[in-house]
Amino acid sequence: MTTMLGVSLRGREVLMVGGGLVTARRLRRFLDDGALVRVVAPELAPETRAIMVENAVPWTKRPFRRGDVRTAWLVHTATGDRRVDRAVVAQCERQRRLCINASDGAMGSARLTAQTSAGDVVVGVTGVVGVDPRRSMDVRDAVAAMLSSGRLPLRRRRPGLVGRVDLIGGGPGPADLMTVRARRLLAEADVVVADRLGPAAEVRGELGSDVLVIDVGKRPGDHPVPQEEINALLVEHARAGKRVVRLKGGDPFVFGRGGEEVLACVAAGVPVMVTPGVSSAISVPQSAGIPVTHRGTASAVHVVNGQGGIAPATLAAMLDDAVTTVVLMGVAALPRLVDAALAHGVPTESPVAIVENGHSPHQRTIRARLSDIVTVAQAERVENPAVIVFGDVARADLLLPVSATVESTA
Ligand code: SAH
Repeated sequence: MTTMLGVSLRGREVLMVGGGLVTARRLRRFLDDGALVRVVAPELAPETRAIMVENAVPWTKRPFRRGDVRTAWLVHTATGDRRVDRAVVAQCERQRRLCINASDGAMGSARLTAQTSAGDVVVGVTGVVGVDPRRSMDVRDAVAAMLSSGRLPLRRRRPGLVGRVDLIGGGPGPADLMTVRARRLLAEADVVVADRLGPAAEVRGELGSDVLVIDVGKRPGDHPVPQEEINALLVEHARAGKRVVRLKGGDPFVFGRGGEEVLACVAAGVPVMVTPGVSSAISVPQSAGIPVTHRGTASAVHVVNGQGGIAPATLAAMLDDAVTTVVLMGVAALPRLVDAALAHGVPTESPVAIVENGHSPHQRTIRARLSDIVTVAQAERVENPAVIVFGDVARADLLLPVSATVESTA
């Protein structure tokens, strides 16, 4: 039978007998755990020597002697000679040291597990009798894949003293455009503060029923929750020891006010981390077959929020035919933008594309030349969310169209 133990080797002596490749591999693992490793071996493989030099691991250059195990908490033997390994095991039995025997795992008193971790959870796999390391590794890999993508319940059951806030980029909508890290952090969350855009709806169904979900994108009367209130919510729940996920559409640092949320957490002394996401600024044009840069067509991208004033830099970008201008939150501002561009001398025939509901079943692309886009957008009743692309990359014939396209007849 086997009892799996979570053993802390930090600061404890581990004796490794033998200087070959097996020792090299496991030496790293013990060192990563903070063990005080020493090696007894007549010679060392170059790989082993390199790791030992790098980590100042002491080497006793001679064959194993019985007294070697005396000060060790744990012994690992991989000499390449079964008889020697057996002698090490026998000596460990006598001296009551746990011993891992690499040449015959069933013979030693301890075995290493195939191990994986996700955040601060560690899972080890081994067999009850006999040893089949490949099989253990296969199971470990399958568990690791599920853990890292958030498909296993990772929520803490004992609240910590200090919580933390994770700002997570949810991407442009589909849950499978989120990062693996984002999925795992969501699976660990006690509280999820979500926006209206992004993958909130799809991933919400996967959260445990006792996860507190706070929707700050909308509230009765259709007003979004003010930023200061969102900041206060994040801090308050983290201070109560909760793992808080702030789930944002796209990338947290692209017009997401993520920076302000980070500042609020830092000011309150709450640990905060940011996980990037796929920004709609790039991925929504892409979903309509529009590359924001394209060799020979556009060599720079200017991303702007349509709600603000129209900055001279934006007009300059629109005038420069090597620059793609991407406007987020720009549907209402479209007429204003177009007027300003025309007044600034941007050619009337320069291409514009509006991509509505990117990466969704309702995705639609409207294209027209600059002088017609306002009329076409009104006729087509374009609505938010949409990304507007000004520049030659918006030409319908640049690449094969990826989605249904409404062409201007003008
Ligand atoms: N941080 C986000 C942007 C937030 S601003 C990001 O990096 O993507 C919100 C704007 O993003 C919307 O007004 C719209 O212009 C754009 N947007 C986000 N998701 C979109 C989608 N699926 N389709 C079209 N536009 C989208």
